[in-house]
Amino acid sequence: MSPIPNLAAVVATVGKEMQPHLGGGHVADYIPALARVDGRRFGLAVITCEGETAEFGDAWMPFSIQSISKVFTLTMALERLGAELWKRVGREPSGSRFNSIVQLENEKGVPRNPFINAGAIVVTDALMAGREPGAVIADIRDTMRGLADTDAIDIDKEVATSEAATGFRNYSLANFMRGFDNLKSPVEDTLQTYFHQCSMRISCRQLARAGLFLANRGVDPLTKVQVTTANRTRRINAVMMTCGHYDASGEFAFQVGLPGKSGVGGGILTIVPGKAAIAVWSPGLNEAGTSHVGAMALESLATKMGWSVF
Ligand code: GLN
Repeated sequence: MSPIPNLAAVVATVGKEMQPHLGGGHVADYIPALARVDGRRFGLAVITCEGETAEFGDAWMPFSIQSISKVFTLTMALERLGAELWKRVGREPSGSRFNSIVQLENEKGVPRNPFINAGAIVVTDALMAGREPGAVIADIRDTMRGLADTDAIDIDKEVATSEAATGFRNYSLANFMRGFDNLKSPVEDTLQTYFHQCSMRISCRQLARAGLFLANRGVDPLTKVQVTTANRTRRINAVMMTCGHYDASGEFAFQVGLPGKSGVGGGILTIVPGKAAIAVWSPGLNEAGTSHVGAMALESLATKMGWSVF
């Protein structure tokens, strides 16, 4: 076996390798408040289960978490509801875009998986369980603060308002599922909660820290807090691997070989089971809504470190 290369040196090499590519892809503009971000930003942070960290570039700069929040609401909903949740949302890849509605009618309002928008809206609704949006939004934000071990995570109200003002597809998905009785709270309440969870601002450093329990069988290796069970962790990672990038999940598995979840803010959280959590941020997206440079950086990092679940 070849020796494990030095993490800090590899992260620095990957960061430098990405410099000619910065600005590639397209910054999301369907949510107007997201379009203002500088497309040349790039941050990378790795934290190991031993607490070793390595960072590059804008690793401490907050960005919009967007769909990466779905990993954390799924974890929270599974803790609250257990396996009952799977009656309302599936765990098959959709092969469709993140905001697609086409499968919902045939499948009677039960979304394919918790990471497409329809599925994430159901998960948020399940997490609400009759609670007011304000209480659930605070619960999600406080959970993220706890996991990231910092109080410096907040919700960008301007992004949340912008999402609500332009969220016609999400309103369609939610109303359609309500028609199948797969949404329990009022549509507006569930969507306001969903828009706010997507509007959290978080840095790569905080995101990698928050996801570290997923690399350690559900236990935060640094605080020893049990966030979820080992069994649920295995399943959350499985769904990240198969569905974390919508219709490009196969491509991400092929390129990177690790469970990951993208967001249209340009962030990607990636888990190296038993070893580390990685967060990368670069706002330009590919066609599927995954960070273009972020995915390239992860492919290079995973290859150089010899990290893969395969
Ligand atoms: N808030 C975004 C939306 O609902 C999240 C999408 C994403 O990051 N893929 O459209």
